[in-house]
Formats: sequence, structure tokens, C-alpha cells
Amino acid sequence: MSDWKSEQAIIVGGGIGGLAAALALARAGVRCQVIEQAPEFKEIGAGIQLGPNVFFMFERLGLIEPISALAVFPNNLIMMDSVTGEEVTRIPLGDAFRKRFHQPYALIHRADLHKVLLEACRASNLIELDASQKVIKVDERGSGIAVRTESGKDYRGAALIGADGLWSTIRQIVVGDGAPKPAGHITYRAVLPTSEMPEQWRWRDMVLWAGEKVHLVHYPLRTGELFNLVAVFHSNRYEEGWDSYGDPTELHERFAKTCEPVRTLLNKIESWRMWVLCDRPPIKEWSRGRITLLGDAAHPMLQYLAQGACMAIEDAVCLADRVVAAGGDYAAAFLAYQQARYLRTGRVQIMARVYGEFYHASGVAKELRNMMLASRSADDAMAGMEWLYGEQKELTRGAAAFTP
Ligand SMILES: Cc1cc2nc3c(=O)[nH]c(=O)nc-3n(C[C@H](O)[C@H](O)[C@H](O)COP(=O)(O)OP(=O)(O)OC[C@H]3O[C@@H](n4cnc5c(N)ncnc54)[C@H](O)[C@@H]3O)c2cc1C
Repeated sequence: MSDWKSEQAIIVGGGIGGLAAALALARAGVRCQVIEQAPEFKEIGAGIQLGPNVFFMFERLGLIEPISALAVFPNNLIMMDSVTGEEVTRIPLGDAFRKRFHQPYALIHRADLHKVLLEACRASNLIELDASQKVIKVDERGSGIAVRTESGKDYRGAALIGADGLWSTIRQIVVGDGAPKPAGHITYRAVLPTSEMPEQWRWRDMVLWAGEKVHLVHYPLRTGELFNLVAVFHSNRYEEGWDSYGDPTELHERFAKTCEPVRTLLNKIESWRMWVLCDRPPIKEWSRGRITLLGDAAHPMLQYLAQGACMAIEDAVCLADRVVAAGGDYAAAFLAYQQARYLRTGRVQIMARVYGEFYHASGVAKELRNMMLASRSADDAMAGMEWLYGEQKELTRGAAAFTP
């Protein structure tokens, strides 16, 4: 092992992005210390969609097998009109899709994805994982980084990666742009045993019911044992808040104009968890010396392209490649990494907002949307996804860098 690789990199945050970063660096032979504020390394929440682009990263990280064992591979992406109840469009995810993108589209429970990453990290003797440690102070000192946690524990490392999510402390040190802004959209999420899902809606598809300032998504999880339901509506009633229990009254009010199947599905859920959606406008610079950001800390986005976690995992692979290419010159590596990533992640941030408008359109905009989507062929649809789902050669070509 080269000397620089034995000096640990510190990763703040043990979510999907932080664990992926630790794994990517460890696969390249770099020692890592992950520091997580929660008492356990654990994900809560519900389902997550995985575009083909992230499967290239799973290949790089050696995770295709465990992920595939826990994922559902849906047959179609379907958009329904939640007022008329009619299908607007569908994109088959079978042979033609896989042939075009060389990878599948999948659905997975967020806890399962996190568990796969965590087990891979635990299996590496280059990764240390500390829970119950909230980072409150970071000092960059000449050739290294000093970190202090709320409980008074100190860590030293060669560099620091802030993978501490939407409310990132490290972002305030590096960028200092205050709290993220609520987007005026609320998400309610729930997971239902398949036996409780009405039989006619037990589709092996990712289904999105688009409505006026609302939408509902459902899809199967855990090899079909569960169904994930996500209801989104516009509301400015909430300033902040995350992962609290959602009051169904406002949800039912907002969905009052939707068709009977949508209302029936919403009525199936007794207990929803609520997220107040926030994002930030894209930025170009999220590194300072030996400190950088990754995932939601760097480029938080609305979930409408289902790519936040996928982007965090792409970041992780890119970052490890750049660290290896720079031979441990972290300041140079972090600049190269942000340069390689900001246009791609910025595009996803911007397009996620556009897709939100698109899903929630009313009047002429909605008619145009439905007309345009209905007249599109599956090939046209896939061509439109190429920028997002297609192979990012600079991420897949770096494979050699992972040989320690
Ligand atoms: C409703 C919804 C649906 C979504 N659907 C999808 C989808 O289908 N596909 C997809 O790819 N993405 C999706 N996303 C986005 C995805 O969930 C996030 O982008 C992803 O989880 C970000 O991972 P992260 O590791 O950057 O941040 P996080 O998951 O937020 O992890 C940050 C970690 O840092 C820890 N931390 C924070 N501060 C400190 C500190 N000071 N010290 C120590 N630890 C700290 C936190 O406890 C946490 O564990 C969705 C998001 C939402 C809200």
C-alpha cells in the first residue's frame, strides 16, 4: 500500500453517499473513517428507484449480485392521468431498454440498499465505522484535517468528505450558503404489505398517477412482498420538518379531484410519514482545500427524477478515481472531482424541478404533456433518457483505479 493510502480519509455521514464513498475509496486501497451522528448505521424510509446509470457504479463496487438479490426489476414505467384514470404513456423496461442502456431499471427498499453498502464496508479492513458521533468542528491544518464531535471525540485524517446530507454542517464550512429552501412540495410515504394492495393494482411496474399539483406513485418492493406508495402535493403550510407523521386530512383534500382508484389507494394507508421537500440551486464549487462534499450535501435535488441516491453513488466512484489519479493530492483531486461532476448533477437538479412541473401540470400544459407523451415511441422516450441513464464513460473507464 502506498504511504498516502494508509493515512485515513474522514467521511462525515454514514448514509448511502457516505458508505458508497468509503467503499469506493477502500476498493482503491485508501483507509477511511466514517463518522455518523445517529446511534446506528441505519436507513429508514421506503422505496428507492435505481436507474441503469447507478448499476454501472454497482459493477465498479462489486455489488451487482447483492443488490440484484434484493431488488425488483419492474416491467414498465407507466404514467396515468389521475383525473381521467387513463394511461398516458408507458416505457417498457425489457430487452430493448436493457440493450440500449446495458443495465436494468430496479426498485429497492432504501434500508436494503443501505444494508448492502454497510455489509460491504464492514467486510473491508480499511473502513472504520463510528456511530453516535455528531461532527461539530472541522479544522484544516497544513497537511491534514482535525475533526471534533459533540461528545468531545477527536479524529485526524488526510482529508474530509462531507456526506452529511441536505442539512449538511460541512457545507456551511465549505460553501456557507445557509439552510436549503422548502420547495413548497410535500411528500407522504408509506409501505403496504402486498396482501393489502387492491389486486387490480398489484402491477410489477413503476406507476405514476399525474394530477394537478399532486401525484401518486406506487411500485413493488422486496421481491414483491411490499408496495411502496408516495403521494406528493403542493403546499406552503410547512416551513421545515422531516420524517414526521403526516396528517391525512390535508392529503385527502389535495387529492379530492383525482379519480376513484387513486383515492382508494390513498385510503389504504393509515399511517404516512411526511417529508417537506427542499433543494438548492446548483453550484460549481463545493471543495475547499482538503475538504469536499458529496451527495445531498453537495447538490440536493427534488426526487422527481429519482436520482439523488444514484448521483451520490456516482459521486463516490468519481471521487475515488480522482483521489487515486492525483496520487493522494487531495486538494487537486477534490477540484478535479467537482469539475467532473457539477454539470451532470446540476442538470439533474434543474431537470428534477422541470419534471415536478410536468407531473403536476394543469389546463393547456397538461393537455400538451399528455399529447406529447402519447405520441412518443419507446425509442423516442429512451433517446430522451440517454443523457441520464447512458453509460458515463469516464466513470466506467476508471475501473483500473480500483486495483489497490
Ligand atoms: C421522497 C424521496 C424520494 C426519493 N427517491 C429517490 C429515488 O427513487 N432514487 C434516488 O436515487 N434517490 C431518491 N431520493 C433521494 C435520496 O434519498 C437522497 O438523495 C440520498 O439519500 C442522499 O444520500 P446522502 O448520503 O447524500 O445523504 P443522507 O441520506 O441524508 O445521509 C446523510 C447522513 O449524514 C449524517 N449526518 C448529518 N450530519 C452529521 C454530522 N454533523 N455528523 C455526523 N453525521 C451526520 C446523517 O445522520 C445521515 O446518516 C429520494 C428522496 C426523497 C426525499
